[in-house]
Amino acid sequence: MREEILKLSKERLPYMIEVRRSLHKYPETGWLEFRTASMAAKRLQELGYTLTMGEKAVSKKDMMGVPSPEVLKENQERALAEGADPELVKIMEGGLTGFWGDLECGGGPGPKMALRFDMDALEVVENKTDKHKPHREGFASRHHGWMHACGHDSHVAMGLVVAEILALLKDRLKGSIRVIFEPGEEGSRGATPMVAAGCCKDVDIILGLHIGADAAEPGYIACGAQKFLATDKYDVYFKGLAAHSGMRPENGHNAVLAACAATTNMHAIARHSGGATRITVGKIIGGQGRNVIPPEATLVMETRGENTELNEYMAKEARRVIKAAAAMWDCEVEIKVVGSAPSGRSSEDMVAKIMEIADSLPEFKRVDGIINFSGTEDFSRMMTEVQKNGGIGTYMQVGTTLAAGNHNEFFDIDEKDMIEGVRICCLTVAEYLGK
Ligand SMILES: [Zn+2]
Repeated sequence: MREEILKLSKERLPYMIEVRRSLHKYPETGWLEFRTASMAAKRLQELGYTLTMGEKAVSKKDMMGVPSPEVLKENQERALAEGADPELVKIMEGGLTGFWGDLECGGGPGPKMALRFDMDALEVVENKTDKHKPHREGFASRHHGWMHACGHDSHVAMGLVVAEILALLKDRLKGSIRVIFEPGEEGSRGATPMVAAGCCKDVDIILGLHIGADAAEPGYIACGAQKFLATDKYDVYFKGLAAHSGMRPENGHNAVLAACAATTNMHAIARHSGGATRITVGKIIGGQGRNVIPPEATLVMETRGENTELNEYMAKEARRVIKAAAAMWDCEVEIKVVGSAPSGRSSEDMVAKIMEIADSLPEFKRVDGIINFSGTEDFSRMMTEVQKNGGIGTYMQVGTTLAAGNHNEFFDIDEKDMIEGVRICCLTVAEYLGK
């Protein structure tokens, strides 16, 4: 089986490049991945996987940060014009773009093993100069303001080839395989409603991966991670009262001042002795005109902590400051949670096994175990769910040469490193489900 995995993963590189570039050209952000998801779902169907889609795969009431109905509709139409499958897109109506495919193996009963691949792009304006390979080679983003600047395009490409190889090998495997395609990983939105819908139910083993990120050199692999930054994402709406700024300023309730007071004071929250915390107000929108007391303002913000408790501390303090600032300026305030992810830690025994597999592959020159993850990844929601139910899981980072850091306009990977991602996934499945 090993030789076949090595051979097939290499042979499928041109296909992976084709898929990756097609997705790179048409990036889609959270809950709007109609083209991406329909393409991937269609392929899984062809490979013999049973699909779970729509409300069965994404719990509607647990969705956070969903775009407006107009934006959803507009993007559904856009995706159809770009070649998305109309029947599948219909099931995803309302932004239900997450789904999974199940495959029963032919080798009798055994564990249920899940693999997660994320699909979404970022709100980044891609560089359009000849210094940037995707532009030079004609596959830079056609959607201005959106870009696959975190490599999730390559994750989908790898996921489809992993699914294909496992389908070819299924009679020599036991148990069952679930391939999860997650929308809205950015902003920590996708995992929670998928877990609520049951994507991790009865899953014994779960595997997630990222290309690049903390693995910014080829031949490197981190087989596990810990200290994912737990996070909460908020949109905060301050509602004041408009008034003439010259004639009757005393009649107004200034929402911009409430938002600004909240912002500076949230950034002054006492740091916790228990470990690293973060807070960022990344965007302020507010006011109507020069001579109008601003009746509304919005903050787009997030808190983070190196463990779930530290993030909860930041989130609790932030809420207190926001409410106090609103009271100070006599405004009303609504805090809307638009994303959330816990921290987490890979299962040690699983990491040890994957390290052995990686050590056996000559292309991996440096193999690490559990490393500290420097960002947030809402796969931690799925992993902790599986672990809570007695299962195991890990999150791997596969090395590649990065043209620039994640979320940068020049971000690009070395496409041939997708082979390594496929290999490590398939060999890990073979290790756990091999007869
Ligand atoms: Zn990412």
